[in-house]
Amino acid sequence: MKQQMELKKTYKELEEELAKISLQLEEATDSIEAIRSGQIDALIVKGENGSQIYTVKSADQTYRMFIEKMNEGALTLNIDGLILYANSRFAEMVALPLSKVIGHPFIQFVPQEYKKVFTESINNGWQAHNKGEIIITRSDGHCIPLLFSLSTLELDEGMALNMILTDLSLQKEGEQRLKETNEQLLKANSYVERMNDELELMVKERTKDLLISRENFKFLADNIPVIAWTALPDGTINYLNQRFYEFAGVNASEFFMNDWIQVIHPEDREKTTAQWLHAIKSGEPLDIEYRFKYAPDDSYHWHYGKGLPYKNEEGHIIAWFGTSTDIELQKKELEKKDEFISMVSHELKTPLTSLKGFTQLLMFTNKQAKNNLVDGYLETMNNQINKLTRLIADLLDITKSEGGELQFDNELFDFNVLVKEIAGEMQLTTIKHTIELELAKSAKVNGDRDRIGQVITNLISNAIKYSPAADKIIISTRIENNKIILCVQDFGIGISRLQHPNLYSRFYRVLDTSEAHTFPGMGLGLYISKNIIEKHMGKMWLESEPGKGAKFYFALMIADN
Ligand code: ADP
Repeated sequence: MKQQMELKKTYKELEEELAKISLQLEEATDSIEAIRSGQIDALIVKGENGSQIYTVKSADQTYRMFIEKMNEGALTLNIDGLILYANSRFAEMVALPLSKVIGHPFIQFVPQEYKKVFTESINNGWQAHNKGEIIITRSDGHCIPLLFSLSTLELDEGMALNMILTDLSLQKEGEQRLKETNEQLLKANSYVERMNDELELMVKERTKDLLISRENFKFLADNIPVIAWTALPDGTINYLNQRFYEFAGVNASEFFMNDWIQVIHPEDREKTTAQWLHAIKSGEPLDIEYRFKYAPDDSYHWHYGKGLPYKNEEGHIIAWFGTSTDIELQKKELEKKDEFISMVSHELKTPLTSLKGFTQLLMFTNKQAKNNLVDGYLETMNNQINKLTRLIADLLDITKSEGGELQFDNELFDFNVLVKEIAGEMQLTTIKHTIELELAKSAKVNGDRDRIGQVITNLISNAIKYSPAADKIIISTRIENNKIILCVQDFGIGISRLQHPNLYSRFYRVLDTSEAHTFPGMGLGLYISKNIIEKHMGKMWLESEPGKGAKFYFALMIADN
């Protein structure tokens, strides 16, 4: 019926009605803007019972400005839940212009599932101050968590509800992140705790192992018949075994370990200190003989000292371990043996010289008689006498070198010329082997030419002797760091690495009894050779493996011209 009536309205009437409504709208918008900006303190809301004016009691412009600038959303709702006032922050929160917020029911921003709960909160808010969390939907569909706080406000026209909304998005995000970080932290913490426990257990085990091995070491070291010691990388002695104190006749609690030099014979102190300092500086093993105090009869005993550096994986020395062995008895035995050898050799020399003289006389006489058979016999005799003479000379040499009496006649000579000369002589002694020379640039050496020749002869004769199945021997020379190095290489039986350090001991032979018959010798050649080279400030060494032949080297300083 009403519809019919309205339809009957003329165009003019409609136009008038539109103009009236537009005017009303304009007025309403102006009022809202005026209230919002604090120009007026009242709001006119058109209800079913005509327009109503709402005035904010003790409204104050300053407060409104303050509310406008707040980071929180601020709203005033009437009893029907319509938004009477909203600050621009709230409009931002819901992503709508203020005009689409004011005058609209607040509940429209609350998602469906929270509407019921929130309506209850609002109802409670009318009774008393109320707080809680709420989710609202923005115009773009996104939801944001908010904290709301409700309090009533008395307006002239009746009660209104004030609502302050704080955006919790950042806080929630922060909380979530904090929670995650916390969880990670807890995990890390429990991992660290577990690691710590494991580590503690490991340290305990290791400490126990260490204590046991230390005790084992101490027990062993204190009960071996030789003196044992340990030192720090800088040479500071930090352990001396029981035997040391027994030998030196000093009290462990009163003896200052680094005074060890006091128990060395005064004549050997300088040499011993120098060699120990050299070992510390170079990291090379210590290998030395000296006289050590023997307290029981207040004498000195010859000792053989050995010190070995103990290195870590990076090759740094972390400690020194050493022993000092009493070799007094062996020294005395050797001295006796030397005396005996020296005496016998001298005794043998006289008849041998006469034998050689007569043999040569016979050879000369026989040459005239032209008897080839006798000639052959005499030749063999002469060779054997020569061998015997060399042997006796060797025996005398060792007794002399022990007593430091080995004589050297130094001269300047061309090294390669000497090598060629000896190689030529030695080639005559073998039919099976070809002696090949690979000589680099020559150099002059200052030394005893005959003695150095004796060393080369020795090395070549060993190479021939210990390679019966091979057909060549290579002799090479080269120059390195102002030294000339000679190498005699054979392709014979070779020597196990374990034996290398022993070869230079006198009367030492690697061979077992059956081999010893195959390769005659006395085990003196290398001992004498090394002695001669060392007296010339040179060095001798070898490279060899069983079945792979041997390479014997020596190096001598080149003389500066
Ligand atoms: P000898 O040859 O008279 O026994 P040496 O002092 O010359 O004495 O040598 C000592 C030991 O070293 C020999 O008995 C031998 O076992 C070993 N030896 C020396 N030279 C060689 C070599 N070229 N090949 C294999 N073994 C060797």
